[in-house]
Order: sequence, then structure tokens, then C-alpha cells
Amino acid sequence: MCFHNEAWSVLLRSVHSVIDRSDPKLLKEIILVDDFSDMSHLGEQLQNYMDKLNIVQIIRMKKREGLIRSRLAGAKAASGDVLTFLDSHIECTEGWLEPLLDEIHQNSTVVVTPVIDGIQDTTLEYQGKNENDVYVGGFDWNLQFNWHEIPERERKRRLDKVSPIYSPTMAGGLFSICRKYFIELGTYDAGMEIWGGENLELSFKVWMCGGTLEIIPCSRVGHIFRRRSPYIWKEGENVVEKNSMRLAEVWMDEYKNFYYERFNRQLGNYGDISLRIKLRERLKCKSFDWYLTNIFPELFIPGQATHTGEVRNKANNYCIDGLSNYLYYDQPIGFLPCHGLGENQYWLMSKKGEIRRDEACLDYDGSGKVKTYLCHNLEGNQKWVYKESGLIEHSVSQSCMEGSDAGELVMNICDVNNIRQLWLWPQRK
Ligand code: UDP
Ligand code: MN
Repeated sequence: MCFHNEAWSVLLRSVHSVIDRSDPKLLKEIILVDDFSDMSHLGEQLQNYMDKLNIVQIIRMKKREGLIRSRLAGAKAASGDVLTFLDSHIECTEGWLEPLLDEIHQNSTVVVTPVIDGIQDTTLEYQGKNENDVYVGGFDWNLQFNWHEIPERERKRRLDKVSPIYSPTMAGGLFSICRKYFIELGTYDAGMEIWGGENLELSFKVWMCGGTLEIIPCSRVGHIFRRRSPYIWKEGENVVEKNSMRLAEVWMDEYKNFYYERFNRQLGNYGDISLRIKLRERLKCKSFDWYLTNIFPELFIPGQATHTGEVRNKANNYCIDGLSNYLYYDQPIGFLPCHGLGENQYWLMSKKGEIRRDEACLDYDGSGKVKTYLCHNLEGNQKWVYKESGLIEHSVSQSCMEGSDAGELVMNICDVNNIRQLWLWPQRK
């Protein structure tokens, strides 16, 4: 369990829940890794407290290393057969450990995660999920982790509701892995900084190199999901982007380009990855194409789009601009000066006529504004036609997108002679 400036009560709750709710026969040791915290309660006070428990060891990083290298330090010090990584603001529930260990005992190449329940960040109340409310991990082409419903094919494969669930990726905070297998897989990429990307790296690697990643529905651990990260990251550096580039370069083959497109290929310095490439060769891992086809066939592949990039209005060089995060669904899409950086102005036209980025589709219900919604695959309000003339027509309402002078995106009666309704959108080669 690594931590950086964790609250006292929260850290104690995490540690005590492990001790109280694990069979002593199964719990060899608890290793806390302090990632250079400067809160006073995490110094001597913590050491004195933990010493009395007789099962906790504290490792101190000598400078801020981030969660990836801190976890590696913890893993190195560990002597048990199985490593269980946990965040420092969690609560293990009764019976959380046995189902995880049992699965690894049967097959040491299975990497397992519990179902992650919520702990409310304001009241610290444990909020157990309904047993049907279980999701699997995925990712988008910005290489952000996300959750999605258990696919139909997986529902069919499972024998019953307690069976493990195959998951294309893991959230990263909580999981168990056979220690030897973690080493065999090349642990984490120690070139990654602070936070992010390491969960996808391990997920891709497990599947592509012969292992299995599962969510174990009978194991439940609560986690405090914070609205924003409470601590300081590295100044002047986008660490998640750097980590994601390392991930893309090593594991994603030609598919890395779909990620790079998102920020117009402005690749910064992501450091030396030669050792990670050697690792992949040594492990004789399968291709990323194999992974997408067999492990995550639900993912929309940008290569299947007909048009891609910014959607530029001919009248004033303004572009369609909007967030694709689900938190911003149901809000009007923007119309802003084109900036040429991709990001919120990057859109794909799918063969089905969706205008989408990741799981968000432009949606128009015939009145009001164009909004984003979760892509539903049913065409309807999400079907558009980009005409040769440059018009973008909404099929159901037979109206066209128009950029107003006021910097708004409106829908109007289609008119090829109205330059405000004409759009430039690069064709995918
Ligand atoms: N952490 C750390 N050093 C860092 C950043 C994070 O030790 O530089 C720890 C943090 O205290 C937590 C774990 O890594 O125990 C995961 O971080 P966080 O909970 O912020 O990630 P989230 O759950 O929000 O994805
Ligand atoms: Mn966390």
C-alpha cells in the first residue's frame, strides 16, 4: 500500500481493514510505502503506531517517486507468494481475500481484482454496490481507463454470477498477482512518473503475453473516489501523457497512431523505452491487433471512420468543439476558433453516420441544441451525413449544422448556398 500525504484516519482504516478481515494464515505482511509525504502525522507517529501491530513494515522513499516506482519498491521488499496492491484509502470487506487468492492458486497467470465499491468522499460511508452493478474495465483512444457493461459474449461464457469476469483492463488501484508472475512480466515500467498509464500497461501486457485479467465478483473492497487529485503532481510536465506515450510505443503497434492523432502528434520526450521493447520480444507477446480482436472487440476503432480530425466551418474557421467525457453528456456542443491541436475538436465520422469521439456521439433530438450522448448504435438521433457539398445533415430531422456568427452551433433548413453550413473535414486515408 503506497501513499503520498494520506489522512491519518483514512490510512488507519485501510490498514486495519486488511488486518481485521484477512485470515492470518493468508496474510504474511503489510508493506506501507511512504512516497515522500510531508504531513507530520506520517512520520514518527505513524512508525510508532504501526510498530505495535507487529505485521506492518514501512518503507520510505527518499524523494517523490510517484505511485509506480513506490509500488515497485514495495514489491521488491515483499516476500509472500502473492502481491496484493491496494490504495491507501480503502476498506476491505469480510471475505475479500480468499476468492482472489483461490483464483491465483489455480492458475498463477491470472491477475485478479476485487469489485471496487465506493466510499463517499464527504461522509466516508461505505456504499456497497448491488451485485448486478458490476462493470468491466476498458479504455478510450485518449488512453484513459473507463468502465463499461459486461458484454453479452462474456455473460454467456460465465457459468453463474459468482464466476470470474474477464476484463480487458483494470482500474489499477487494487489487484493481486502472483509475485513470480509479476516479475516474469517485467513488473511495471519504472520510467513512468507519478500516476497513470501503468494500469493499462499491465492490462495489455497480461492479455497479450498469455495471462488473464479477471474481476472477482465475490471479493469486495471499498475505495474513496476523489473528485480531483488532492496532491501536487510534477510541475510543468504532463506526466500522464508521457506515461501513455511509453505505453503506446511499446504495446500498441500501429494503433498508437489513433492516440497520437488526438493531440496532432505533438509528441514530447517520453524517455528511453528500449528495455521495455526488449521485454515484449522476450515474452513473445501477441500483437495489439490480436488483443483488440479477441479481448476487447467492443472498442470502436478510429480506423473504421470515414472522416477524422477537426470539423472546420468554411465561413469563419471556427470548429465543432466539445468534451466527450460522460460528465458532459447532455450539454450543448461548442463552436470555437479552430486551434489545430485535435483534443476537443477531434471528431470521427463512423461508417454508420455517427459523429463521435470515443463513446460520445453528437445527438440532436429535432429541437434545441446539438449535444453529446453515449453512442447507442441505433442511428436515430445520432445519424448524420457529411455530404460532398460540405453540408452535415441530420437524417431524422433533415436539417443541417450551421455555425452562427454568435459562436453557436445551430440546426437549420439545409441550404448549400449558405457558407455557414459548409464544413471541411479531412477524409481518413
Ligand atoms: N500515490 C503515491 N505517490 C504519488 C501519487 C499517488 O504514493 O505520487 C498513491 C496514493 O496515495 C494512492 C495510490 O498511489 O494510495 C493511488 O493514487 P490515487 O488514489 O490518487 O489514484 P486514484 O485512485 O485517484 O486513481
Ligand atoms: Mn485511489
